[in-house]
Amino acid sequence: MQKGTINVQTENIFPIIKKFLYSDHEIFLRELVSNAVDATQKLKTLASMGKVKDELGDLTIHVELDKKNKQLKVIDRGIGMTAEEVDKYINQIAFSSAEEFVKKYKGKSDADKNALIGHFGLGFYSAFMVAERVEIRTKTYKKGGSTKAVKWECDGSPEFTMGELDKQDRGTEIILHIAKDSEEFLEEYRVLNLLKKYSKFLPVPIQFGTEKVSEKTGKKDKDGNDEYKEVEKPRIINNTKPAWTQKPAELKDEDYKNFYRELYPMNFDEPLFHIHLNVDYPFNLTGILYFPKVKKNIEVQRDKIQLYSNQVFVTDSVEGIVPDFLTLLHGVIDSPDIPLNVSRSYLQSDANVKKISNHIMKKVSDKLEEIFKNNREDFEAKWDDIKVFIEYGMISEEKFYEKAEKFALFKNTESKYFTFDEYKKHIEKTQQDKDKKLIYLYTTDPDEQHAFIETAKARGYDVLEMSGVLDNHFINALEQKFENASFARVDADIIDKLIKKEEDQPSKLNEKDQEKLKPVFEKFVKKESYNITFESLSETDQPVIITQPEFMRRMKDMSKLGGGMDYMGNMPDTYNLVINSNHPLIGDILKEGDASKQENLVKQVTDLARLSQNLLKGQELTDFIKRSVNMIGK
Ligand code: ADP
Repeated sequence: MQKGTINVQTENIFPIIKKFLYSDHEIFLRELVSNAVDATQKLKTLASMGKVKDELGDLTIHVELDKKNKQLKVIDRGIGMTAEEVDKYINQIAFSSAEEFVKKYKGKSDADKNALIGHFGLGFYSAFMVAERVEIRTKTYKKGGSTKAVKWECDGSPEFTMGELDKQDRGTEIILHIAKDSEEFLEEYRVLNLLKKYSKFLPVPIQFGTEKVSEKTGKKDKDGNDEYKEVEKPRIINNTKPAWTQKPAELKDEDYKNFYRELYPMNFDEPLFHIHLNVDYPFNLTGILYFPKVKKNIEVQRDKIQLYSNQVFVTDSVEGIVPDFLTLLHGVIDSPDIPLNVSRSYLQSDANVKKISNHIMKKVSDKLEEIFKNNREDFEAKWDDIKVFIEYGMISEEKFYEKAEKFALFKNTESKYFTFDEYKKHIEKTQQDKDKKLIYLYTTDPDEQHAFIETAKARGYDVLEMSGVLDNHFINALEQKFENASFARVDADIIDKLIKKEEDQPSKLNEKDQEKLKPVFEKFVKKESYNITFESLSETDQPVIITQPEFMRRMKDMSKLGGGMDYMGNMPDTYNLVINSNHPLIGDILKEGDASKQENLVKQVTDLARLSQNLLKGQELTDFIKRSVNMIGK
């Protein structure tokens, strides 16, 4: 038995490993299992070059719990190590890289610490986060010379022992003697969950314990149905050939859907479609991205993309790697080229990462364009679900806007879909005002703004449905892009003012009449909220119309969505109360000699207008109903 001291340059790193890395202790298992996978993959490569004398045999990696003896073992049948190799890789290289890690780690801010731990393992030495003693038992695949099995042991101090061992089978066993404060890692469910989190798609089978499965016995029962029996089978944790590692040509639509279910067992919706990424130049990247069905609250769908490095789970926070709007997508990205051992801020400015991000964006827009071109019907059917991604992308990424303006759609109140170009042509002749400006009319709620939509349609105008969560922002963005055009909600003003074709018609009420009538209306609406005006509208328009000016409303809506104008949110809503001077009823009200009768009529027409804007509530609504019933009775 040989004793030795690991060459410590600065100080004993083990207490630091234990103390500082508290939050992410669990990654030790990822590190050890990844090492076992690497050793197995190396063996396979060597075998394919004819350099392995033995049969490869079953290469399954075993993770074993021995609760009684407080041991957790990771056992592989990979290349193993000679004594020299243990000395070189474990005593020197692995140790110094762990030491380097600790050095880097100590100078970092908390946020960077977390990023560092998550993305950069400590390697083999992470075992000391949870173990008071670690044993390695290993036998190399090599033959002859000094290739005897080796036993290495270390109790967390820089001293270790190394010696010969009687082990016939090729490969490495890592035995962790779990420390008192880490006994959670002796719990089966804890280890199982960890393996499922980090090792679900590793390329070598990993067995942990057994599981009961029902299996056909081959016999039939008396009704002719298959008979089943429960059998105990090795529990294999991982799918060694996840869909993203396979060729798109070999996969059917169903395979992609199954893989989605495998990724998100708790999500019962089917994805709308997928994009298989496969890049080998100028960087390596594979993956599958899914467009999920959109929920009301898009935030809950965010950050579902999982990032892998050679099938090892790294993180599910891909911020900085994919463009922000694509964090709404689901799926997997696997790249050994994404630098994982760096902080997040570095990641965001890394040129390679930028390229990856741009590439993913291009792939996504290509796919959308392809569906649009090849199957417009299908694209339209999916539009309502994908529109939020596309609008988000168009608002936030100029490059994406340039691509998407060819396939982004408008939907009108008749549920007809148009591209931007098509829609422009559709309204060009009718909705240009006298200054040749093109007015896009829209509604944010077809039910609430029904009366206004009908009025617009009666003029031969078209109304867009803009009820999506991002539509307010989107409209602002489009107004900047479109030339000589603006958007107006159907109830932003009297329709003939929204699309002004000619000068105002002569009014039937002169100024004196208006001055007489205005104070009566002022009695029934709040001064600070309503701006009362007289307009010469058609006799067939409503006698009183309440509109909500576009600018103020949009500012307020934006501030609700967090547009950075919080003070706007506290301002009262403001409306225009427009009295139609040409309506016969207004003429009658003016002529009414009985003051209380006149007031009642004014109240009634005002309430009707408020009702059509959904502004009549509570006591006022109850009073209105009572008053109406009385009037009918008369
Ligand atoms: P890394 O895996 O990043 O190289 P580690 O500290 O995890 O660093 O491991 C150091 C080295 O020890 C590995 O590079 C490998 O040569 C060797 N090693 C670790 N685990 C095994 C194993 N299960 N089988 C064979 N070699 C191993």
